[in-house]
Amino acid sequence: TVRTRIAPSPTGDPHVGTAYVALFNLCFARQHGGQFILRIEDTDQTRSTDESEQDILRALRWLGLDWDEGPDVGGPHGPYRQSERKDSYAQYALDLVEKGHAFYCFRTPDELDQIREERKAQGLNPGIKGDLELPAEEVQRRLAAGEPHVIRMKVPEEGTCVIQDMLRGQIEIDWAQVDCQILLKSDGMPTYHLANVVDDHAMGITHVLRGEEWINSAPKHKLLYEYFGWDMPELCHLPLLRNPDKSKLSKRKNPTSINFYERMGFLPEAVINYLGRMGWSMPDEREKFSVAEMIEHFDIQRVSLGGPIFDVEKLRWLNGQWLRDDVSDDEFVARLKDWWFREDALRDLLPHVKGRTEVFSDVAPMAAFMFSGMLDLAPEQFAHNKLEEGQVKRVLQFALWKLEAQRHWSKETIFADIKGLAKAMDLKMGDFMFPIFVAIAGTPNSWSVMDSMALLGPDMTRARLRHALN
Ligand code: ATP
Ligand code: GLU
Repeated sequence: TVRTRIAPSPTGDPHVGTAYVALFNLCFARQHGGQFILRIEDTDQTRSTDESEQDILRALRWLGLDWDEGPDVGGPHGPYRQSERKDSYAQYALDLVEKGHAFYCFRTPDELDQIREERKAQGLNPGIKGDLELPAEEVQRRLAAGEPHVIRMKVPEEGTCVIQDMLRGQIEIDWAQVDCQILLKSDGMPTYHLANVVDDHAMGITHVLRGEEWINSAPKHKLLYEYFGWDMPELCHLPLLRNPDKSKLSKRKNPTSINFYERMGFLPEAVINYLGRMGWSMPDEREKFSVAEMIEHFDIQRVSLGGPIFDVEKLRWLNGQWLRDDVSDDEFVARLKDWWFREDALRDLLPHVKGRTEVFSDVAPMAAFMFSGMLDLAPEQFAHNKLEEGQVKRVLQFALWKLEAQRHWSKETIFADIKGLAKAMDLKMGDFMFPIFVAIAGTPNSWSVMDSMALLGPDMTRARLRHALN
């Protein structure tokens, strides 16, 4: 039977790209009466967090995606979290060393850089190749001495690797371009490549549908399947989502977090419908359809490879269609109420609101910006007696750049970023904060804008700063 999977790494906000790839895996599996699995790839221990994992599962469920096996629902092939399977991977790497398909490598990153440079200077392929393998005695001596090391897979020096892709047919990649990939890191943890292949095999995955950014990994995976003597799943690389300017969808230009779309008040059925239109269309070209309808008519060969554009304006339009055609008045009221009065969101606001409230009708005007999308701002609102217009723009731009790079979203980290910038620009905190207040809250007279940004989340914060700059 067909078994597909989505394998997110819990290293950040739930990405719309993850939901898009999950949707296509789900449809493909369901259409063939098969199973769809969710596996958490958390081998990067420094970047993976529990919160991110929870958030990803929650966001995918919000969109109505359901998996048959996963860390939260269990299943016969568990555990479904790679950190809980980590003891199994080292043995696979050692087996490959024993069979002569992999080798110990003791080079430091600096040494490898130097080797690359030297090879480049000699007009040679600067890749990391099997000639780095040391004589057996030296390996034994250095292992016995406890020297830090990794295990790398061996890769052919020359020739071409041919990959079969369900959408693209044959893809040829020169082996010369493929490095001897690390399989086991010096901390004993596997890399993505080893863990991914081992688990896809162990979990009986038959079809791997994933983003095209992974095409270059396919030769390594193919070789690993050969080394292990396992059948390789069919591969299908889906086109990446793009910004309206055709560049790869990125948080620098577009909100990419599913949380943002929920916070903006999009309907999950419209968002998932829109993701189903990314590179795919119904046979009758209708724009509005449910996941069930998509499954009924699904055909992976209808995926078109021209980069699908994720356009928030189009999504808004589609959402309006759903809202008007498919949401009854009673449902509208119920769902708006649920969205507006999310208990946890209200509780988060309480410390700021309660002390400023005499009657309930005071709350809406002061908290409206916490429930809004982009704010209607006039240029005069940014006028300030200590800041010239150019400085206002720079404050907003620098804050945006800094916060785009912030991976750990909290009041404290935002504060540290802002404080650092104010210092670098030689501005008083109060002056520096003024344009930020206006961009985020629409007024300088609100509670701490750090709290607001922390609660609004990274995508909404960035979107408002970007909006204020336009
Ligand atoms: P950004 O450029 O916004 O920082 P990113 O590439 O760093 O995005 P990641 O956090 O690396 O995003 O990716 C999270 C998940 O989303 C990955 O599984 C990745 O495959 C998927 N993803 C990222 N960008 C796209 C895209 N443009 N289309 C489809 N999937 C994507
Ligand atoms: N963990 C990888 C990711 O974050 C999975 C890639 C794959 O599907 O092989 O996208």
